[in-house]
Amino acid sequence: MDIIDFANIPCTTGALEYLRKSDIGSNDLCTQAAFESIRSTGKERVLEALKDGAMKYRRFNKLAAEKELLAYPITRIIVSCINNNYLTKRYALAVARLSYEHIIELKIDALKELAADFGINITADSRNMNVVMHFTDYIHHAHVLHEPKWKLLNRTVEQGMLTISIGDLARLMEEAVRNKVELGLPHEVPQDIREALKTYISEVQEAINTRAGKQDFSREDFGEVVPDCFPTCISSAIADVQANVNLSHTMRFAMTTFLLNIGMKPEKITEIFRASPDFSEQDTNYQISHINGASGTTYTCPACATMATNGNCPGKAPMCKKIEHPLVYYRRKVWLENKKQVKKEYLEHQ
Ligand code: SF4
Repeated sequence: MDIIDFANIPCTTGALEYLRKSDIGSNDLCTQAAFESIRSTGKERVLEALKDGAMKYRRFNKLAAEKELLAYPITRIIVSCINNNYLTKRYALAVARLSYEHIIELKIDALKELAADFGINITADSRNMNVVMHFTDYIHHAHVLHEPKWKLLNRTVEQGMLTISIGDLARLMEEAVRNKVELGLPHEVPQDIREALKTYISEVQEAINTRAGKQDFSREDFGEVVPDCFPTCISSAIADVQANVNLSHTMRFAMTTFLLNIGMKPEKITEIFRASPDFSEQDTNYQISHINGASGTTYTCPACATMATNGNCPGKAPMCKKIEHPLVYYRRKVWLENKKQVKKEYLEHQ
């Protein structure tokens, strides 16, 4: 892989190594006037990701590719400093989509190198334009894709190996890129770097605020519901939906039951799903009313153990260690917040 590949798939080991060996240090990149256009490019890419959930696929020459790659750490610093769940997911999605555009055009040797970087060993199937991989590598990356074609049952496995098209491999890699970028954010940013980039950070923050102001789905839409008290599993699923990331069926069910169980109106839940890439109003309304008891059974949000089994439990909050159900988390958090508020009001009237 070369600099043009690195500029389009910037989270690879090769790209990071290239940046590490570059004569331009990250401090200089953030502070020196000579690199102002690179900082601007970084900010523009973050704004692009925020606006479209994608970055335009640009066919770079080597010089432009190097500039683009240098802008990558700037984008990560801006996203880290803002530390907004929605922006992080949207940015990771945009980097992944851009990578897909490039991966789909890679020659087999570069594809092999890239796949190996993500822990997948592939060989070219000499009979056609497909690639062959071990089924465990396939499951490791395909389990997050929910259309039926990704189920192992719908693939032919021979002696532990299966064959997929280059297009499907690119889709698997897209998901791997999204995951890698998202997991690495936010990272620590020293105060002097924050200071040096503050105008770029403010501009992106302002774009987020403007967008939040325009959103169909706002804090008031939750009614009596208190979104700040949602456990991470639910708030991160809502952020995923808003960032245009498809939810798994199990997470979709968990989020819907949770919101219904705490009293949110079905039409407000439909509004949350509206940003979903595969949104269909009719199907969504049907599923919500089914879960809400239209067929005689009212469903309850799954317990934490089931959430963990289904891969839907990030479980990072300290309170998660003390509870066994997302609804208990929510009720306890609401109770604690109310108690804090009462205490505050009491102290104010002393
Ligand atoms: S431990 Fe329970 S409440 Fe906490 S994130 Fe996991 S599923 Fe959600």
